[in-house]
Amino acid sequence: MNSPFVETVSIPRNPWQEQAACASQDIDPEIFFVPERGRPSADWGRAAIEICSRCQVRRECLEVALRMREHRGIWGGMTPAERRSKAHSSTMPKV
Ligand code: SF4
Repeated sequence: MNSPFVETVSIPRNPWQEQAACASQDIDPEIFFVPERGRPSADWGRAAIEICSRCQVRRECLEVALRMREHRGIWGGMTPAERRSKAHSSTMPKV
């Protein structure tokens, strides 16, 4: 089964993608992205993050997003801002 989310963002194919919780045909891949029109709602991304929370390949997904510096959408259960913060904190020297 292919992940509609992964196909939407066109990342290189990896075996773990076959286990992605977002690969279900019942899941609208658009919920992983900020709507193109209008302002996002206050709870934007919540439904996607809930799906990610039960995903068996969350770690792999997040690693790809961090490595690719993906700035759009929910990946590995994190928003773009959360990923930026994580990437920043992991590259900053510890004081
Ligand atoms: S962590 Fe979320 S976005 Fe990543 S593969 Fe799993 S369900 Fe999809």
